[in-house]
Amino acid sequence: MPDCLFCGIAAGQIPATVVLDGKRIVAFRDINPQAPTHVLVVPRDHHPNVGALAAVGDGLLDELIGTAREIAAAEGIEDTGYRIVFNTGQDGGQTVGHVHAHLLGGRPMAWPPG
Ligand code: AMP
Ligand code: ZN
Repeated sequence: MPDCLFCGIAAGQIPATVVLDGKRIVAFRDINPQAPTHVLVVPRDHHPNVGALAAVGDGLLDELIGTAREIAAAEGIEDTGYRIVFNTGQDGGQTVGHVHAHLLGGRPMAWPPG
């Protein structure tokens, strides 16, 4: 079993409700959804956070956002709108140290978040 939860899900070793199984990216439903659509979009390769992923600069971050948009369309929330969130570090509320985009939609969202 890998140390990293999302490496384990990406490898199919830890169960998840997968909505997209791509070459470089996997997406699955959040186990504790905060909105009618709450999907985590994750690169298969381990990068600790979005800043580290951006620094790699091989197009993977672009692909991650593009994939989130495709999932939003598949979930029927592209027109009503959605939120993409990357929590980063302790004060950012990051609890899993493998970069993941939260794709949230299906209800109006307040700003600022609590
Ligand atoms: P963050 O707090 O930004 O690091 O987000 C981690 C997210 O992972 C939280 O929204 C959790 O509900 C979610 N999560 C934790 N364990 C699992 C799991 N086994 N399958 C799916 N989502 C999970
Ligand atoms: Zn990982």
